[in-house]
Amino acid sequence: MDDLYRDYILEHYRRPHNFGVLEDPTASYEGSNPLCGDRITMMLGITDGVVSEVAFTGRGCAISQASASLLTDEIKGKTVEDVEKLTPDDLLDLIGVDISPARLKCALLSLDTVAHALADRAAAHAEAEPEQS
Ligand code: ZN
Repeated sequence: MDDLYRDYILEHYRRPHNFGVLEDPTASYEGSNPLCGDRITMMLGITDGVVSEVAFTGRGCAISQASASLLTDEIKGKTVEDVEKLTPDDLLDLIGVDISPARLKCALLSLDTVAHALADRAAAHAEAEPEQS
């Protein structure tokens, strides 16, 4: 791994962006990667279909936490539609370092957690809809 990139990842790990708790998130999910012991809780505040607020807490290896920090920067201000379209490759581009297959689950945990949070929210919305008969 290139030293410059490694520093960049470590900087996000030491001083993660958007680290904290949202009081009343529209969507949230706690994801974990048992292979490495990484945990990430993503909290999203969604207003008019846009991710207006985002925060996360978590602990784990540098790649997992730096990935969450980078991802929260990326999705803030994006529409839910655009966030749902993000692919693992998009996230790996953001991270910008070569991730070994063994660390892939670490790197992608944040995206997986966001996807779960949005899916849970969609399910809750569907239940809230009045029944059509
Ligand atoms: Zn990890």
